[in-house]
Amino acid sequence: MSVSLKISGVSKVFDKNVALNNVDLQIQAGEFVCLLGPSGCGKSTLLRLIAGLDRPSEGKIYINDRDVTNLPPSRRNFGIMFQSYALFPNLSAFENVAYGLRNKKMKSKDIQERVDRLFEMIKLTSAKDRLPSQMSGGEQQRVALARALATEPDFLLLDEPLSALDAKVRISLRKEICNIQKELNLTTIMVTHDQDEALTMADRIVVMNKAVVMQEGTPEEIYEHPENPFVADFIGSINFIDKEKSKVYDLGNYERVAIRPEKIEITRNPSDNVLRGRITDIEFRGFYDRVSVQVSHVLYGDMVLYVDVPFQTAKEMKFRVGENVYVNLPKEELLCFE
Ligand code: ATP
Repeated sequence: MSVSLKISGVSKVFDKNVALNNVDLQIQAGEFVCLLGPSGCGKSTLLRLIAGLDRPSEGKIYINDRDVTNLPPSRRNFGIMFQSYALFPNLSAFENVAYGLRNKKMKSKDIQERVDRLFEMIKLTSAKDRLPSQMSGGEQQRVALARALATEPDFLLLDEPLSALDAKVRISLRKEICNIQKELNLTTIMVTHDQDEALTMADRIVVMNKAVVMQEGTPEEIYEHPENPFVADFIGSINFIDKEKSKVYDLGNYERVAIRPEKIEITRNPSDNVLRGRITDIEFRGFYDRVSVQVSHVLYGDMVLYVDVPFQTAKEMKFRVGENVYVNLPKEELLCFE
């Protein structure tokens, strides 16, 4: 069974250090939510409170509308997976996964069946009898996932589960975790500071900073419509343009506009509403080039805009450092902040 979770007015203070400040959050049954934010913003503290490993200073936590604020972890029925695989080094992969079931005095035959099924799910049947030291980091983390799922928890908590792995393994494990989560329809909360991970895995992202929630929404909403400069800057790349430099557009009461580098058009042809500039740097980034353009518009003053040029366009246009170009900031792509 999958459960809904509700965090209501939760604060956590350590001595005088406010780790969480009046956080409200609702998580639907079966939803995959990522808590995303810089180091120290309070995301692990929130996860620990949901697990019951710590108590809030204020506020309440509900599982399926039942107040669990004072329930110990053992009575909240969740699975948890950390950055360090934390497998028992002296037990085989199979016994690591079976551990919680043996503790629950499940029958041997039932344990065998369930653990076999979990190894199929993590596609690691051939490694069942190996010790953790005989497995790669990615394999150990898959075993840790199977172990977290073994007791058929109501929800799953993931604390930076992929950060210790190399890029390739991380990307394939992202997909596997998502597939398993969807197959089981298991309410899942993952802590990460990695925006790509959050954007690719989450149904909903909760962006945190300095103990508060800055914005929550689907990955598309967060990327396309950031509500404040922090979110715009933390997720993806962004050019900020201050009000006094942006008189080209009527900003009304807005203090600041911003635009993502991939939304800026760069050309050699002057036309309406474009700014003249000079290329000061070109960085090869694989599937795109990041071009720095020093803009010398009378109203913008001197500022550098980053422009992301897709690989194919970059190849055709052959831009060079030092050449003069024109950039267009389409009005509909501008993000405005008060
Ligand atoms: P990271 O990504 O670095 O793990 P985080 O967003 O998970 O960061 P938390 O670990 O939740 O951040 O910490 C939030 C704040 O609370 C930090 O300022 C931290 O120093 C403080 N904090 C966390 N745990 C404790 C504790 N047990 N005692 C005192 N202060 C703590």
